[in-house]
Amino acid sequence: MQHPMKFLAALTQAIEARNGIIYEQARISAVGHGRLVRLDMACGGRVVAADVVLATSGYIPNLGMLRGRILPLHLQVVATEPLDAWQMDRIGWDRREGILDSRRIFSVFRLTADNRIFFGGDIPRYQWGGRTEDDSDAVCSIDRLGEELHRTFPAELDLQVNRGWTGVIGYTLDGLPSIQRSQSHSGVVQAVGWCGHGVALSIASGDWVARILCGESDQSELARVLMIRFAVQGAIDRVTLLAAELLGGMAFVTTNDVACLLASARALAFHPPSYASIASSLDDYLAGKRFAIA
Ligand SMILES: Cc1cc2nc3c(=O)[nH]c(=O)nc-3n(C[C@H](O)[C@H](O)[C@H](O)COP(=O)(O)OP(=O)(O)OC[C@H]3O[C@@H](n4cnc5c(N)ncnc54)[C@H](O)[C@@H]3O)c2cc1C
Repeated sequence: MQHPMKFLAALTQAIEARNGIIYEQARISAVGHGRLVRLDMACGGRVVAADVVLATSGYIPNLGMLRGRILPLHLQVVATEPLDAWQMDRIGWDRREGILDSRRIFSVFRLTADNRIFFGGDIPRYQWGGRTEDDSDAVCSIDRLGEELHRTFPAELDLQVNRGWTGVIGYTLDGLPSIQRSQSHSGVVQAVGWCGHGVALSIASGDWVARILCGESDQSELARVLMIRFAVQGAIDRVTLLAAELLGGMAFVTTNDVACLLASARALAFHPPSYASIASSLDDYLAGKRFAIA
């Protein structure tokens, strides 16, 4: 399990070792349009920059960007007192697995290095108008989460919740982050919308952001993704045709189900881009040229 403060300290060291300067408490109140970006600071100053990366997660709508596309959701987590030897024995969590449920915004249980149960979950909260500063129901939501923790584990463990906190995440309806040059602010690259998975992903996206900033329009990753997609599409076709063949001709003519399932399995073929529209670009890419789509 990652230790966020140690992780932050290591990142800070890495930035400073490369002569980067970190300015804390520097809230932006407005982001300008145009290729040279003007940032109005809440403290009254102004910064003009050729390149701006906005990584303000669920707070980005506050700056008038991605409103309605990034949903600021408030989440809550609690942690117990460290479990003693008897509690650890009773709970039987010997392999210390991370546990998630299958909800879209899932509940998560972890055992920390010092044997606390960490529990994040319950109802994600959306405040009126997507307000990030309003977390008036934070205390109630932490209490409710503590109660759910007690309902989840045996009462005899007598777990003591001693920490709880809340925070805002940026959620997108398709569950995918947005890492690209902003469509509304051309001088800005945005890297937001981790849907609660951002600790590793946001750092990993740095390489992608750097390439966007360097103006590399290399779309080779897209070409590779599309080749996987067409390979999967072909495999589904082959498997379903073979399955229909194994079911036999009588099954095909006596029920509509087989034909219906065969047709359903073709759905990926109708997902853009179609093979016909992209095949020559992929041919060029495989022949060593740059991949480009219209
Ligand atoms: C309770 C909770 C539990 C979570 N658990 C996990 C987990 O187990 N695993 C996981 O991967 N992720 C988890 N997440 C999500 C994770 O914290 C985020 O995905 C991750 O922090 C995203 O990193 P980020 O840097 O993009 O955004 P953030 O960490 O949200 O940082 C955004 C920054 O932008 C700053 N900012 C906002 N507005 C402005 C402004 N106007 N001017 C200047 N700065 C501004 C904020 O102060 C903040 O520092 C959890 C989140 C919450 C709230």
